[in-house]
Amino acid sequence: MNYVTDDYLNNYLRTVQPHYDGVLGEIEKESRAADVPIIPHETARLLSVLLTLKKPKNILEIGTAVGFSSGLMTRYLEEGGTVTTIDRFEVMLKDARKNIKRMGLEDKIKILEGDAADILPELSGPYDVIFLDAAKGQYSAFLPHCIRLLNIGGLLIVDDVLQGGDIAKTRFAVPRRQRTIHKRLKNFLWDISHTDVLTSSIVPIGDGLAVCVKVKEPNSPIEFSNKESKDE
Ligand code: SAH
Repeated sequence: MNYVTDDYLNNYLRTVQPHYDGVLGEIEKESRAADVPIIPHETARLLSVLLTLKKPKNILEIGTAVGFSSGLMTRYLEEGGTVTTIDRFEVMLKDARKNIKRMGLEDKIKILEGDAADILPELSGPYDVIFLDAAKGQYSAFLPHCIRLLNIGGLLIVDDVLQGGDIAKTRFAVPRRQRTIHKRLKNFLWDISHTDVLTSSIVPIGDGLAVCVKVKEPNSPIEFSNKESKDE
């Protein structure tokens, strides 16, 4: 896991902001100890704040892993609300199902198993919040769907957008095998920052979190760039 902030700061943030109580807290602890990918604690805290403000009824998550962030987000649902969460990795989903049961959240979390590239076009939403936390190289491809599926005023929250800070460097300073992702993520960040459909902020927390509000419907179907990154 990459972080854009220094360890001493991350450690402080994790110490000053208490861990979640109950089974959710146990799942967080176990997952970190086992190196299972879950959002950093400080990102979880920001998510808690955003969702407290938003009071969502329906949430879509792309990237379930073992169900930690799904479980977290159910805490902020309006009465009768649900979290729908997508993952394609059965090994993770097996644990996610176990954890969802442990948390007693079977009626609030619905898992859709498969590749989000196949599932997203089939969904009709609408959702109040979409949390995108999957393969970074696909974020651009998922963006038009996320916009289509969100209500106006809905939040799109995207994790891991800063590539450990490499995003701010020229591609020549980035290891060769990281360059495709580097270019795709830069295009993604350019797109969310320049469309008038979203008001966006890129927050350097964890490995970078983009927070976007859908402010209007697009006039025509959105076509985002396959363009070269702007500064190269
Ligand atoms: N949100 C989780 C962590 C997700 S880790 C939490 O904080 O608790 C990322 C997950 O995304 C992995 O489990 C991986 O299998 C899944 N993933 C990546 N790309 C995907 C795709 N295209 N479709 C479905 N799942 C995907």
